[in-house]
Amino acid sequence: MISITPAVRLSFGLMVLTLSILLFASALGLTPNVDKNQLQARQALSQTLAFQALVGYSRNDQVLVEQVLDNAVTSNSDLVSAAVRSTAGDFFYRTEDHEKTWSDSEVSESTPRFVAVPLLLGGSRIGSLELAFKALGQSDVSYFGWPRKWLLAIFLVLCAFISYRIFIGRALRYLDPSSVVPARVRNALNVLAEGVFILDRREHIVLVNTILSRRLGLDEKRLLGRKAATLGWQVDENKHPMLPWSAALESGEKVVGVRLTAVTQDGKASAFRVNAVPIFDNKGNSQGVIASFDDVSELEEKNLQLETMVAELASTQATIEEKNRSLEYMAAHDSLTGCFNRRAMRTKLDEVFAVANVKRAPLCCIMLDIDHFKRINDTYGHTLGDDIIKLVADALHEQVRGGDFVARFGGEEFCIILPDTDTQQAEQIAERCRVSIERCEHQGVKVTSSFGVASLQVGMPTAGDLVKHADEALYYSKQHGRNQVNRWQSAMANTNAVPQASE
Ligand code: GH3
Ligand code: MG
Ligand code: MG
Repeated sequence: MISITPAVRLSFGLMVLTLSILLFASALGLTPNVDKNQLQARQALSQTLAFQALVGYSRNDQVLVEQVLDNAVTSNSDLVSAAVRSTAGDFFYRTEDHEKTWSDSEVSESTPRFVAVPLLLGGSRIGSLELAFKALGQSDVSYFGWPRKWLLAIFLVLCAFISYRIFIGRALRYLDPSSVVPARVRNALNVLAEGVFILDRREHIVLVNTILSRRLGLDEKRLLGRKAATLGWQVDENKHPMLPWSAALESGEKVVGVRLTAVTQDGKASAFRVNAVPIFDNKGNSQGVIASFDDVSELEEKNLQLETMVAELASTQATIEEKNRSLEYMAAHDSLTGCFNRRAMRTKLDEVFAVANVKRAPLCCIMLDIDHFKRINDTYGHTLGDDIIKLVADALHEQVRGGDFVARFGGEEFCIILPDTDTQQAEQIAERCRVSIERCEHQGVKVTSSFGVASLQVGMPTAGDLVKHADEALYYSKQHGRNQVNRWQSAMANTNAVPQASE
């Protein structure tokens, strides 16, 4: 197969050009006119035969006429048939098939193909010589039944192409732009790990090193002389509106780090980081540009893999963190009510207790217990009892402030920690909670709660003491009619029969 090298392209172009010139010359009538020559030959033959036929016919010598006409048809491939006809219209002699050939012509006058020559004797017409020729150009049939014109055209096309190809191939050996580059420079460029090409001022490739031609999947010969932009580069046009070498040529300054991709002939895309530096002559005139190509395909692929791994890791991390958060939540909260559980409450209480002691800030604790809850369970069942506990927890959450902690202390017993809150405010909050619970209703069932409020005392040894005081006040409320709020007073001390508050 002929590879489409620049030499092949040039040869083809020249061949087309030559054919066009020939056609133009033919249109101008400058080429020999075959038809005209043929007509002249027919005219001469007609005249000669007419003379010989007249001699024979005037002497009534049929043998002579027969010989003349048969001989003429046999020796002239252009002549199909011939006859001598009397003025009355009878044939004196006719060659084979003449009658049919002539009658097919349906002509009254001579034409280039059917010629009737009058035979005149002493000024009067005694008959006519009829000659039937082949159609003009038909006798031009040559090899394989193809007209000579076509054969000539094919011959010209082939010969012109082959001779131009040979000639241009030789000429390019002298004109090869790469041949002006010394061999040692070419060798030096070929040992580079980077791809390199050198362009002339019109951005045509004048030199390309082996590594780049290999990366582009194109033979060096097919790259030389080619405009660099035609190699199918893809560039981020928002970042780089011009190809790097065009930008370097236009600005006269080097352009570095432009990312380009090139799709090779096997459909593989290669990514390059390209630097382009303009070349100047001694007078500072631009002579072209040299561009280096660092293949970053593998690097980018590895980066992509790394990014995917990092993203996967981040997603796993996020999942783990989410799971940890939900585990932490579950560890610190009561699943039925969403309140802090007793353990979490103790941790928080210790924290705020320490802070309040250091800051000498007020701190209060409210304990509450649903009144006669056993009855609710016994009368309406455990499930409704659970619903009521949830309802009470919601009511408490509605009444407390952002920094307060609501904890489920036991079965239907809650504890609220109120940092930076004095006893009076705590009593008000407890009262609001009491009223709110009293107003709650679930499936027609209503409950009340008893409250005990305690505040941080100067010299109170542990956070447990605060809870114990609140519990003692709650016990007092239970003892004195339930559904009420009482603050702890020293007289209530050690009256609490509920041991868990001091745990
Ligand atoms: P008092 O007014 O003296 O508090 O009377 P009480 O009936 O509420 O007595 P106590 O507080 O001692 O009884 C609490 C009852 O609450 C005992 C238990 O059956 C019930 N209970 C504890 N935890 C739960 C729970 O999670 N769900 C339900 N439905 N009931 C619970
Ligand atoms: Mg109770
Ligand atoms: Mg109880």
